[in-house]
Amino acid sequence: MNAAVRFQPLASALVARNSRLIVPRQIIRQGFKPEPTQSFRRGFASDATIPRPKPRKRFRTLRIAWRLTLGLTFLGTGWLAYSIYETRFPREQIEPDPAKKTLVILGSGWGSVALLKKLDTENYNVVIISPRNFFLFTPLLPSCPTGTVEHRSIMEPLRHIIRHKKASVKFYEAEATKIDNERRVVVINDLSDVKGDVHQTEVPFDYLVVGVGAENATFGIPGVREHACFLKEINDAHKIRKTVMDCIETAMFKNQTQEEKERLLHMVVVGGGPTGVEFAAELQDFFEDDLKKWIPDIADDFHVTLVEALPNVLPMFSKTLIEYTEKTFKDEKISVRTKTMVKNVTDKHIEAEVTHPDGRKELQRIPYGCLVWATGNAVRQVVRDLMSQLPQQKNSRRGLAVNEYLVVDGTDGIWALGDCSATKYAPTAQVASQQGAFLARLFNSMARTQALESELDHLEELSAQTTAQEDRESLEREIQKKGKAIRRVKQLSPFEYSHQGSLAYIGMERAVADITWFNGNLASGGSLTYLFWRSAYLSMCFATRNRVLVLMDWIKVKVFGRDVSRE
Ligand code: FAD
Ligand code: NAD
Repeated sequence: MNAAVRFQPLASALVARNSRLIVPRQIIRQGFKPEPTQSFRRGFASDATIPRPKPRKRFRTLRIAWRLTLGLTFLGTGWLAYSIYETRFPREQIEPDPAKKTLVILGSGWGSVALLKKLDTENYNVVIISPRNFFLFTPLLPSCPTGTVEHRSIMEPLRHIIRHKKASVKFYEAEATKIDNERRVVVINDLSDVKGDVHQTEVPFDYLVVGVGAENATFGIPGVREHACFLKEINDAHKIRKTVMDCIETAMFKNQTQEEKERLLHMVVVGGGPTGVEFAAELQDFFEDDLKKWIPDIADDFHVTLVEALPNVLPMFSKTLIEYTEKTFKDEKISVRTKTMVKNVTDKHIEAEVTHPDGRKELQRIPYGCLVWATGNAVRQVVRDLMSQLPQQKNSRRGLAVNEYLVVDGTDGIWALGDCSATKYAPTAQVASQQGAFLARLFNSMARTQALESELDHLEELSAQTTAQEDRESLEREIQKKGKAIRRVKQLSPFEYSHQGSLAYIGMERAVADITWFNGNLASGGSLTYLFWRSAYLSMCFATRNRVLVLMDWIKVKVFGRDVSRE
């Protein structure tokens, strides 16, 4: 039997099973011809005789999705490349006219930077004064001490922001120590370790915006300033990191007693507001995901406690979310001690007044290794001093009382925004940045009004000198147009805050959100809310550079875990 006869039944069977079968050349050479299969026919038969099967819908959808993804990827990459290019290569700046008014802005936080970003700097001689030469993205500050996010990722150099303005802006890295309302000057002090010949001077202003934020509230409780860490500035995050790691390594020291080990590994966070809750959650994540793995000896003794004077944590969130947070903390093994008000702090203990369910009060001593104090805001000294110069500020407690255009009561040409102002709104980044954007609109429209008014004066002069009837009529029309434009520009409504919602991270990749939704409120908590929290904070970062750095930090932690070395 020749090979063709031997293989024919097998080849036919295979062709029947799989129309795309490739028959070995040797077999074809020896006389074997495959039966024309369906795909074969489809290739050679005329369209009229054999109906073409319709393209499968499933693949069409896939194709569209693929093209869409490709298109979006190209667009995204293009946008990213363009933003990076823009950031790296600022354009030439113009020098503002020295005859223009001097606008001094104090602070480089949420309020002041939002103002600076939207301000047309060519209209004023702008001077910024702040002890820090960067903007700090505070919502991600609780992630810094644990290394979930690197500190540089949430800092935006002020010099970048200034250099990108159309007209140049002066920056002095200094602290304003006094605002003299009478003499219209700000006294500034250079705080840096390197001192030049001049380290204190005065800066005169025509307009002043006070955006110095607030300092940490301690309510005069003894020992807090000496022994506790705060969480407001980037240095605070370094200090917490160092203290936590010191506590851990000291607890591991040879022959440490069990009692001392437990004290050192007890991390106490005072203040159940969002700062305290988010930091406690981040610290517990750090322990569960990394510390426990690399330093297993601390597994049984490391403990996070959140202390709050009120009956519950996160008082600004809805009841469901408060309950959800407290339950999540229980699952995470974070102890929540509500109705516990700290009264005194020593180097190793806090003394707190605990209110029992029956109303009985008891003073308890709680040992701690690291104490983080997050009990809200207090008014800064420079602001208190300005308030003391103004009788209209006598009854204000929370900061500078302002009118609906954010003008400081009792002053002319001084505005205040953000945490240092006392308004009906909570002291949040959302409020401060909206106030900053509002003031930018106000200053831009003030400058526009001034420009239009001087054009109007000029036209009126011309009109008075012109004798020709036709020219006078045309000038009158111009004057009317300018008058209308001035009225339009001057029509700036008072500041109105638009609340977008509140978000907080609560650990174990969960977050809570109270979002404003069609005049109502949408409360949600869990892992999806966590994804929303992350994307919302990423989009809120002021610069593309920070967005990319934060994203890379998150990916890095997911892949390699957090670093457990000390700063
Ligand atoms: P800041 O942003 O505090 O800026 C004040 C600026 O003034 C700083 O640059 C400071 O260096 C400077 N300054 C201080 N003293 C002087 C002086 N004497 N002279 C000149 N300059 C001075 N809010 C939210 O809405 N969402 C959040 O998720 C959120 N998370 C937060 C997390 C943490 C850990 C903290 C601490 C706060 C958080 N907040 C959040 C609140 C928010 O950060 C503040 O409400 C916001 O920073 C207020 O903006 P501000 O411009 O008034 O002050
Ligand atoms: P906070 O004022 O919101 O909360 C401080 C908490 O500390 C209060 O609940 C208070 O009862 C408690 N407290 C005060 N003294 C105490 C004591 N002696 N013992 C025990 N507890 C005591 O402060 P915060 O969390 O720092 O927030 C400050 C501002 O920043 C708020 O307006 C807040 O909304 C905003 N913020 C928002 C977010 C967010 O939206 N995710 C995050 C952080 C901060």
